[in-house]
Amino acid sequence: MSDGSAAERPRGVVKVAVVGTGLVGATCAYSILARGLAAEIVLIDANRDRAEGEAMDLNHALPFGRPARIWAGNYSDAAGADIVIVAAGAAQKPGQSRLELARTNVEITRAIVPQIEAVAPDAILILVSNPVDVLTYAAQKASRYPWQRVIGSGTLLDTARFRFELGRHCGMDPRNVHAYIIGEHGDSEVPVWSLANVAGMRLRDYCPVCGKGCSGRALDQLFENVKTAAYRIIKLKGATYYAIGAGVARLTEAILRDEHTVMTVSTRIDGYCGIGDVCLSLPAIICRDGIRETIPLTLSPDEEAALRHSADTLQGVLRSVGL
Ligand code: NAD
Repeated sequence: MSDGSAAERPRGVVKVAVVGTGLVGATCAYSILARGLAAEIVLIDANRDRAEGEAMDLNHALPFGRPARIWAGNYSDAAGADIVIVAAGAAQKPGQSRLELARTNVEITRAIVPQIEAVAPDAILILVSNPVDVLTYAAQKASRYPWQRVIGSGTLLDTARFRFELGRHCGMDPRNVHAYIIGEHGDSEVPVWSLANVAGMRLRDYCPVCGKGCSGRALDQLFENVKTAAYRIIKLKGATYYAIGAGVARLTEAILRDEHTVMTVSTRIDGYCGIGDVCLSLPAIICRDGIRETIPLTLSPDEEAALRHSADTLQGVLRSVGL
């Protein structure tokens, strides 16, 4: 039987591996399947039963969609994968600090990445587990993949939430809202209000003419809703996974189709706004090689200071986990 490696697969047959098939990893796999993006999806998890169960369930969706080969496997089954999504990790335990969680998940990432690299040296890695910016940095350090090929989902989700909330607030399709959350995927993330744009107009120019007459406080509250969304969803139903699954599938699609689409993802920053040697999110152009380049946004002085604070926060975590 074929080992599924790139050399053995017919040209154009896309293979995706998902490492960590809990709620997030399985939802990423489902979203990729629903979009018909991959002909082969291999699921790898420390809990083999979990991966087997998800593979069975996903296989049973095939009669309703496009053909694909989906199975639970080991790292050798990820041979020649085009894209590897890493959503493995421990969840925060009661009483456990974020820093302790970071230490655990850094160790997990350091163990996983070399095993992927050994079998899929040409893959593009998408890191999703938290703290995602720290784990993206750890994955880059633990491998010889070029930085362009190690992408953290970063503020992909936060930016989607921001666009959704702004679209709802303005009564517009979120696809007509261009606004970014940059920096850490977490408490120090930065909304780029100065460049927010709806239907081709700067938000600050649109606000006076839209007629709603809402105050700046309404927009502050809107961002607060974005920033605290994950906490609220986790309180209500235990975890978040649909939106991140859709976002990772969309990122996968942008890579596979060489779209040169702009998305906020976590990547190594060296020099922008005086920030260096850290991974955080900026709008980046996504192509078949991963990240082509990041966009050096012209920020307001306040936004620039907030981004530096976000970078300092992340560097503090990197130092405390010995990276
Ligand atoms: P989960 O507990 O449901 O799944 C985690 C899975 O990882 C489990 O199946 C577990 O067996 C597996 N695992 C643990 N160690 C492993 C290892 N060494 N090798 C392989 N598999 C291993 O958790 P979840 O809800 O799916 O969340 C996964 C991660 O995604 C968490 O870190 C969470 O914080 C993060 N997350 C990130 C975003 C984002 O925007 N980046 C959004 C939501 C969740």
